[in-house]
Amino acid sequence: MMATDVQIGARRVISRNPATGETLCEFECASAAEVGAAVERARAAQPAWASVGVRARVEILRRFQRLLHQKKDDIARTITRENGKPQVEALLTEVLVVLDAARFLIENAYAVLKPEPVPHGNLVMKTKSAHLVREPYGVIGIISPWNYPFSTPATEGLAALVAGNAVVIKPSEFTPLAALELASLLHEAGVPADVFQVVVGDGSAGAVLVEAPIDKIVFTGSVRTGKRVAEAAAKKLLPVLLELGGKDPMLVLEDADLDVVTSGALWGAFMNAGQTCLSVERCYVARSLCERFLTVVVEKTRKLRVGNGLDPETDIGPLIHEQQLRVVEAHVADAIARGARLLTGGRRLLELGPNFYAPTVLADVTHEMRIMREETFGPVLPVMPFATDDEAVRLANDSEFGLAASVWTGDRRRGEALARRIQAGTVMVNDVISCFGISEAPHGGVKSSGLGRAHGRLGLEEMVRVKHLDSDLLPRVRKVWWFGYGAEFARQMEGFVDLLFSTSWVRRIGGGLKSAKAYIRKGRL
Ligand code: NAD
Repeated sequence: MMATDVQIGARRVISRNPATGETLCEFECASAAEVGAAVERARAAQPAWASVGVRARVEILRRFQRLLHQKKDDIARTITRENGKPQVEALLTEVLVVLDAARFLIENAYAVLKPEPVPHGNLVMKTKSAHLVREPYGVIGIISPWNYPFSTPATEGLAALVAGNAVVIKPSEFTPLAALELASLLHEAGVPADVFQVVVGDGSAGAVLVEAPIDKIVFTGSVRTGKRVAEAAAKKLLPVLLELGGKDPMLVLEDADLDVVTSGALWGAFMNAGQTCLSVERCYVARSLCERFLTVVVEKTRKLRVGNGLDPETDIGPLIHEQQLRVVEAHVADAIARGARLLTGGRRLLELGPNFYAPTVLADVTHEMRIMREETFGPVLPVMPFATDDEAVRLANDSEFGLAASVWTGDRRRGEALARRIQAGTVMVNDVISCFGISEAPHGGVKSSGLGRAHGRLGLEEMVRVKHLDSDLLPRVRKVWWFGYGAEFARQMEGFVDLLFSTSWVRRIGGGLKSAKAYIRKGRL
């Protein structure tokens, strides 16, 4: 059973609880005309929103933060009912992440967005004064996935709003309620209704939003859809921010603390039932530690409690829908058929409900298996030994993805040295996934994992166009380099270039003397 069905003929989006199959809400899928009208309203409302200024928008953000804090339990519960994750995870990885992202913007938006002086190092440009002015794009379209249905659109949306943009969000068809809750909190806090809108629909509504007259598209989702969005955007040179999938490696060195690293692997691989872009999807363990690592990790995995996320005792909730279960099953079956050892899990838990899968540990995996190459997005920890640090780095980098990675070691320096060699947007030493909760840090990937960065200062910079505004301080003086060229002027300018860049002090001084007359040159046009 699907968490949410999109009935193509009837064009309806049905939000379902993936733990029980219960229908939570039904929506008409937004039509192309409705998406277009939302963008038009956003465009009309945006100039007034931009003109209220950053400080006024920050005050609205402060109100939003207070409201979200007051309603934190209700929001977390909605997320759990619609997405399945344990409610405490919804509180920590969604609500808390957004409260802190708001804190970051409240504290930093003004400083990041205020005009920034541009120094003029070139001697000839010293008579100018310039600033970088950060201007909102206008209307930003945000397309988001179901796995972080609140924190993903919220962190991106808050940055877009505080920069003065209007926002139209197309949430995942599997989790529209979380995005609607976000909109209602923002409206209550004072964001005008047309400045922040949600259009509920399936992928076709997303495609229409990309085609609509927006000024930037911020897409979070799979590599496959991300490429489609990028193609459509390229046709009209629409700027894109792409936050795509991952296949994050975890490197466990022989000096890692066995108890800590096995617990880290468990949480990294199984939190949100493995449906996190930053999940541990590949685990490489130093050969001398590998069998002990497997024994402890399996012991701990068997203690995990799988169930309905509304039960506070639950560690792992259901997967989002049947299709996701099938991907996980196919990857596990392929691995076993090619010689992987199934140490625990590897089956559906039908007794719990429609979409539950047992946390699974696989040993003896290889890079020929789908489980080590494609994004699995389920509660599976495939473990592979390595002999040397060089081999660990080579294996980590042998992937089309490059979102994040982690290195686990008792020697922080060695960990950081390895981290520098790993191709990824983020590498954590002795932790995993929690980088998403560091509001100051950028989030984003390299290779197929995406383009651009969300979160932090770099994420805020993604929401503005940078204008270079330059004023001449001598408006009554013609520039030396303007027309009226000639052999004399060419010699003077050669001297000027020597003055600036010759490695010989004699030539520099000579160049200075030669060029001095250029400033009083006659015959300038
Ligand atoms: P998805 O690509 O199937 O869908 C994402 C969104 O795109 C949905 O809203 C969907 O309706 C929409 N969409 C589908 N077809 C479209 C089209 N042709 N044009 C425009 N929009 C379209 O992804 P998903 O299954 O919802 O999410 C899981 C994926 O998201 C995983 O790959 C995961 O790694 C990735 N993800 C990445 C990050 C990150 O920050 N890098 C964060 C969360 C999830």
